[in-house]
Amino acid sequence: MNVDIDCLVVGAGVVGLAVAREMAQAGHEVLVIEAGEAIGIGTSSRNSEVIHAGIYYPPGSLKARLCVEGRHALYAYCESHGVSTRKTGKLIVANTDAQVHQLNQLLQRGLENGVDDLRMLNRDEAMALEPALACIAALYSPSTGIVDSHALMLALQGDAEAAGTSVAFHTPLLGAKVTAEGFLLDIGGESPMQLTCSKLINAAGLHAPALARSIEGLAPEKIPRPYLCKGSYFSVAKRVPFTHLIYPAPSADGLGVHMTVDLGGQARFGPDTEWVESEDYQVDPARADGFYSAIRSYWPDLPDDSLQPGYSGIRPKISAPGEPAKDFMISSQCAHGIPGLINLFGIESPGLTSCLAIARHVRNLFEV
Ligand SMILES: Cc1cc2nc3c(=O)[nH]c(=O)nc-3n(C[C@H](O)[C@H](O)[C@H](O)COP(=O)(O)OP(=O)(O)OC[C@H]3O[C@@H](n4cnc5c(N)ncnc54)[C@H](O)[C@@H]3O)c2cc1C
Repeated sequence: MNVDIDCLVVGAGVVGLAVAREMAQAGHEVLVIEAGEAIGIGTSSRNSEVIHAGIYYPPGSLKARLCVEGRHALYAYCESHGVSTRKTGKLIVANTDAQVHQLNQLLQRGLENGVDDLRMLNRDEAMALEPALACIAALYSPSTGIVDSHALMLALQGDAEAAGTSVAFHTPLLGAKVTAEGFLLDIGGESPMQLTCSKLINAAGLHAPALARSIEGLAPEKIPRPYLCKGSYFSVAKRVPFTHLIYPAPSADGLGVHMTVDLGGQARFGPDTEWVESEDYQVDPARADGFYSAIRSYWPDLPDDSLQPGYSGIRPKISAPGEPAKDFMISSQCAHGIPGLINLFGIESPGLTSCLAIARHVRNLFEV
């Protein structure tokens, strides 16, 4: 085919980099273009860095399948590439009978999803693991862990480049047009240019729906409406008395204000849920009030005035406020009719955990 480049990946977040690596290792010539100045400047560096087990998602959904497959792949990949992970384990805690019922349902759902190491703990068993915890029962997930997400992205970039991929920064895709041979790309930045490619993979995260709307020839009804759901984090200066990740029972809004640690041992609480209209990452110190009450439901000894505003991230939702969370929408020719185009919409959590499995899924979609 007479095109400048075989495969163009838009976005150098964890998903774009994983997809670039997968496609390059399958023998495709790949160019990644990134609007920002570095890899991982979007949601990929604004999350909890948790390797999820795959408990919460509806059985059979892409989130369930790709999270479980992705978790196995991610631990193995990190091990072989010197990327730090720690299998901290996680406790989802119940403080009411209704929440115990909810945890039993989560246990069943997790088992259906192939998370085969989950265990219900009574209060004494949970407190034997975490003496400072307040709960009447807990669901224990031993295979949940944490990962150094930046080291992961560097490793993915390194693999992709070793397989021939180039990564260009300060290079936004402004729009594209579907042609007989693939796509005519309108690329901005310091050296604006037009290029052609035969495969176009839109991994632009929060901006994926807007970018898809700028592709001439793609029907607008094939593009979901984006919603921005901000999550703020607070940190505590002192050491927390927990070694496992601690999650409350999930609510309609999400997984609840949970406690995670990074690989340096720094604890953080969050993310909460705030629907926003624009990309603003400031953390409002006043949101701490909601955090104290949420955290004290499972850690009553959280000292007054101990929370400091941390950072925030924005979930790239394709479900409106109040609607059940939608599945990942990985939209290929069979969904929109355009050969060579894959749009990755709604890649919220567990997108980090699932990145390698998402990449394999994308590659398989090109092979059918
Ligand atoms: C608060 C929060 C907590 C989370 N916690 C977890 C967790 O613990 N575990 C987990 O598994 N997942 C978690 N996630 C989800 C995970 O972070 C995301 O699924 C993942 O980072 C998405 O990666 P991405 O590459 O799709 O998007 P991004 O990281 O946003 O990358 C998209 C890239 O595209 C670039 N771009 C955009 N438009 C253009 C354009 N026109 N041209 C060129 N480049 C462009 C952007 O600059 C950006 O670098 C969380 C998400 C949030 C918001």
